[in-house]
Amino acid sequence: MPKRRTKRGAQRTPIGGDYDVLICGASFAGLAVARELAGSGARVMVIDRYEVGERQTSACAAPTDWLLNLGLQGSMRQTFQDLVINTPYGRHRYDLPWTFSTFDYRTLCELLDEQNDADFETAKVNGRSANTIHTDRGDLTAPLIVDGLGWRRLLAADDGYQPPDAPLSRGLEVHPNGSGEDLEIWIDRRYVPAGYGWSFPARNELRIGVGSFDPRFHVKDTTVLLAEDLDADAVRYQGNWIPHKLRPSTEDGIFFVGDSAGHCLPLTAEGIRTALYFGIACGRELRRVVEGRSTADVALRRYGTFSAAHEWQFEWLLRVQKLVPKLPAPLQHGVIGALGDKRFVDWSFGHYLRIADPSFAGAPIANQGGGMPPTPSEGGAGGPAELEPSAFPRSGSNGASGGGTSALPVAHKPDQG
Ligand SMILES: Cc1cc2nc3c(=O)[nH]c(=O)nc-3n(C[C@H](O)[C@H](O)[C@H](O)COP(=O)(O)OP(=O)(O)OC[C@H]3O[C@@H](n4cnc5c(N)ncnc54)[C@H](O)[C@@H]3O)c2cc1C
Repeated sequence: MPKRRTKRGAQRTPIGGDYDVLICGASFAGLAVARELAGSGARVMVIDRYEVGERQTSACAAPTDWLLNLGLQGSMRQTFQDLVINTPYGRHRYDLPWTFSTFDYRTLCELLDEQNDADFETAKVNGRSANTIHTDRGDLTAPLIVDGLGWRRLLAADDGYQPPDAPLSRGLEVHPNGSGEDLEIWIDRRYVPAGYGWSFPARNELRIGVGSFDPRFHVKDTTVLLAEDLDADAVRYQGNWIPHKLRPSTEDGIFFVGDSAGHCLPLTAEGIRTALYFGIACGRELRRVVEGRSTADVALRRYGTFSAAHEWQFEWLLRVQKLVPKLPAPLQHGVIGALGDKRFVDWSFGHYLRIADPSFAGAPIANQGGGMPPTPSEGGAGGPAELEPSAFPRSGSNGASGGGTSALPVAHKPDQG
């Protein structure tokens, strides 16, 4: 199916029509859903108010294996084996059992976008009536609709929740030119009473920012302060609200993925790999429906169950998120040092990675039946335990050597025009 890229101005023509699947939002979550529908024969439309990759939405650091397993290595800028944690009393270096990589947002989105055969239009979503999405360029209809629009959860039936009263963190960063060797965070009340500061080098750029778990704490001044302390210019700002509480991933017939479902992990505010993970899970369920192997109702139930099965992990991280700021600063420093024991780091970061394991990206769609393991009510042997993330196979790579899964079900788009 040829891909139409709509330009701005006079070329911003009206759009409309019926699709099998309508994916709203073309960032990590939406593009992951679209990828799983490639080659299914379904009429899929992806819409976003910006061109793919146009507006960076994060500091863009993710576990390396996630990038490798999705064939996104071309976007990687820098890889880190260590995590450096600074406190007012010194610094601790954690030798991780796997690596993080920073990446270029535009390149990653473009590479991920190449893996679907959906239509794409730039359009601003204004709202929804049943199965119809209202945009600034017209109405689009589909029986299967995905909200990958971020924390606003625009397609929910209710008004959702608004900061500062909602369980949202606040994040802001600057992107000065510069370079660095370490992935660093600061747990220091000079920058934020509850939260952390960071500096993520990305080859010739630094991403320096502050995230506050308390939405009422304004992070602009302290983001500038951290940049000053690092002798970097506070330029090219980028910020957003970051959800730190899981929300229902299905509601009123809509599939919510990524920040719209609160899939960003509390404590660390890591929301990229979870957006990819739940996006893949959602896409596999939708694929079963469009291929006639499931129904929309079953897909909603299975995806909803899958997401909810992770709630205990999100709750656990949220408890730690609430606890850490309550500790006196010297105790924080001591605890962070004690937890830096290599065996504990391997254990804790291993569990942390498995909340949304990179191997999930590489599981073959066709053999898997395109979705999660069947539940007993569907005649399968699997029960709720199979829906838990720990039931999925571990990544075989520690990430440092770049051992990603290569046999990916990557479908390429037809040539443009
Ligand atoms: C400052 C900051 C730094 C961060 N750093 C990291 C990090 O290093 N690593 C990490 O894992 N996580 C990080 N996060 C969290 C991460 O950015 C999010 O969890 C992640 O982007 C969620 O992906 P998503 O696809 O659900 O939503 P988003 O990435 O927010 O994408 C939503 C998409 O919807 C589109 N959209 C929104 N509204 C409309 C509309 N009305 N009409 C049409 N389109 C619309 C947007 O243009 C966008 O493309 C950071 C967050 C912030 C704020």
